[in-house]
Amino acid sequence: MSDETNDLPYDLIVVGGGPGGYVAAIRAAQLGLRTACVDKRGALGGTCLNVGCIPSKALLQSSHHYEVAGKEFAHHGIEGSVTLNLAAMLARKDKVVADLTKGIEFLFKKNKIDYLVGAGEITAADAVTVTPNGGGKAQVLKAENILIATGSEVTPLPGVEIDEKRVVSSTGALALTQVPESLVVIGGGVIGLELGSVWRRLGAQVTVVEFLDNILPGMDGEVVKQMTRTLKKQGMAFKLATKVTGAKATRTAVTLTMEPRDGGAAETLKADVVLVAVGRRPYTAGLGLDKVGVEMDGRGFVKVDHDFQTNVPGVFAIGDVIGGAMLAHKAEDEGVAVAELLAGQSGHVNYDAIPGIVYTWPEVAAVGRTEEQLKAAGIAYNKGKHPFTANSRARANADTDGFVKILADAETDAVLGVHIVGPAAGDLIQEAVLAMEFGGSAEDIARTCHGHPGLAEAVKEAALDVAGRMIHA
Ligand code: FAD
Ligand code: NAD
Repeated sequence: MSDETNDLPYDLIVVGGGPGGYVAAIRAAQLGLRTACVDKRGALGGTCLNVGCIPSKALLQSSHHYEVAGKEFAHHGIEGSVTLNLAAMLARKDKVVADLTKGIEFLFKKNKIDYLVGAGEITAADAVTVTPNGGGKAQVLKAENILIATGSEVTPLPGVEIDEKRVVSSTGALALTQVPESLVVIGGGVIGLELGSVWRRLGAQVTVVEFLDNILPGMDGEVVKQMTRTLKKQGMAFKLATKVTGAKATRTAVTLTMEPRDGGAAETLKADVVLVAVGRRPYTAGLGLDKVGVEMDGRGFVKVDHDFQTNVPGVFAIGDVIGGAMLAHKAEDEGVAVAELLAGQSGHVNYDAIPGIVYTWPEVAAVGRTEEQLKAAGIAYNKGKHPFTANSRARANADTDGFVKILADAETDAVLGVHIVGPAAGDLIQEAVLAMEFGGSAEDIARTCHGHPGLAEAVKEAALDVAGRMIHA
């Protein structure tokens, strides 16, 4: 295979067209940089659009409708039975994904970004060799700057081989063509609880096996307690502090072997399907980083400085591949920041105000520090908490599980952390993110007029409670 050098040099070549890469490419093009983006998936949008955020949220929405229609409509005086058409549900999800990925292609055309479908390898500090999917002549693209935005992949679990049929990763769990009678989820993190919820709602008996003492590690303790209780009430079972040691799959079932993490008798658990959701790891295979000398840390994340530049001048990296929160919006913000820095502007990311959302129902949303983190850091704080049972809109909606909790600096009243379990928590959190971005206080939120009746009034009431003057509880 011979290489062909493109004599049109770019200002920026982005390797990876996920939320980090495609957003960086668009922002760079907006700022007048000649930009190309290489992705080997065959569809833009990366993990997020193709096998992550979007298909999972499509199935979460559909399965939520199914559960509500079957279990809660009667309470609203709506009668009749519903049946599941899983094929139609999956087809809708696929169409949402296809439409959105096509939308990014359109945005690339609109912004005059060259999109190359193929595997990108960094062959020099100013060159990316692109091998088209399915073979063909490789092309060498030259650029002033290269941005690595190659994302992450599923972390494997030794002894549990993923075949995407009986033992699936999140990708397989988004496309099961039958509802399993039983599903064991290994890992009680975000993916485990979201996709576990999807299949539980559709009829599977779901057991979550988690290595640590609790699900949702790193989240505020009260949130974890509430979600454990709520998910159990919904029918999800948990085996905590448990270590999976192996899996044996046949054509019809999987037998997992596991043992208590702190010692004790081993046991087996049989399931129709097993979902491995123990985290994701940086993806740099075939990228040529060793050849150009880009440094990685011990876990394979690309090391960058404050301006997202690697140790090789002109080679930058963003998104999941550099670590930190593995979230699409964090990758996007880094993409914008790096493009602005390359264009001579002062792009930056405020890592203290990045929301995290779990799209179960009720949803979980958080920004800033947890109560446990504030205690460990010795920071004095005041706490306000308001339950959705006291919110009139939540009662009208019959969606009263959960609360809003606000932690504010005891001296300055600055908002330090907000934790929400409840209906639409993922949208409600944005008010707190904005308050924190503006350096706002709990008093600022408390004195802001909130529409009535609205779920957001629970945020206002929690802010009032920080100063001990909640009205509605
Ligand atoms: P990616 O999205 O992983 O994109 C990297 C792209 O680079 C890929 O398309 C890959 O094909 C391409 N690539 C890699 N190497 C090469 C190469 N050498 N040449 C060419 N192309 C290459 N985050 C949220 O914020 N909200 C959610 O609700 C959410 N839900 C999720 C649900 C699931 C099931 C999963 C798995 C993840 C979810 N995430 C969610 C995480 C989110 O998907 C990631 O944080 C995000 O996609 C990271 O963006 P990125 O641009 O860094 O990388
Ligand atoms: P995660 O880190 O959220 O959870 C993994 C869980 O697996 C943890 O609770 C961990 O303690 C547990 N675990 C690890 N090894 C184990 C073992 N051997 N046995 C049992 N349990 C084990 O990772 P994830 O759920 O796989 O998600 C991957 C990434 O994708 C996350 O970083 C997350 O941010 C992102 N994501 C985000 C969203 C969202 O924003 N709504 C949704 C899905 C995924």
